[in-house]
Amino acid sequence: MLLDPVSYIRDRIRTVPDWPLAGVQFRDITPLLQDPKTFRVLVDLFVHRYMDQQIDVVAGVDARGFILGSVIAYELNRGFVPVRKKGKLPFTTVAEEYELEYGSATVELHSDAIHAGQRVLLIDDLVATGGTMIAAAKLIRKLGGEVIEAAAIVDLPELGGSQLVQAQGIPLFTVCDFA
Ligand code: AMP
Repeated sequence: MLLDPVSYIRDRIRTVPDWPLAGVQFRDITPLLQDPKTFRVLVDLFVHRYMDQQIDVVAGVDARGFILGSVIAYELNRGFVPVRKKGKLPFTTVAEEYELEYGSATVELHSDAIHAGQRVLLIDDLVATGGTMIAAAKLIRKLGGEVIEAAAIVDLPELGGSQLVQAQGIPLFTVCDFA
């Protein structure tokens, strides 16, 4: 039993300066995934949080949200649905466009991925401006689903995204933050 799983997880996130652009501190979760013990501590933390909650389906955001979301879905014995970047899903889709610092991006869900009234757990690796999480939640709501919580490993609170997510009525859980 670890005394402090949050520090254990946080300590294994690597910061890569100036990637992919100058001035960005990229919080790289690959060392965390690569180490079997840390990966297990992380997944267990999420599974213990959600195992007694009423959840119908887990949605994960392209691409790192797939890694975590699918394992959580498997452990909770629930289905997994991918929220994908534009143009990747083969069946009919619903789409949500959102603003980036420069330009815009679009996320999509298959139109039959979520059914009206379903309670959805939404997973990504990190919340920066919050735009991705909010767009993914809007897609789920378009299909009649209810986001019972959005969850990520990392929050970057100085960017204000976590506050924007919660201001949209989306409960948010993050494991750790980097100021
Ligand atoms: P945002 O929509 O601004 O909240 O950005 C969140 C998405 O972009 C997540 O899917 C992250 O994987 C990625 N992202 C944004 N900023 C960073 C960062 N500094 N380090 C790692 N990933 C990031």
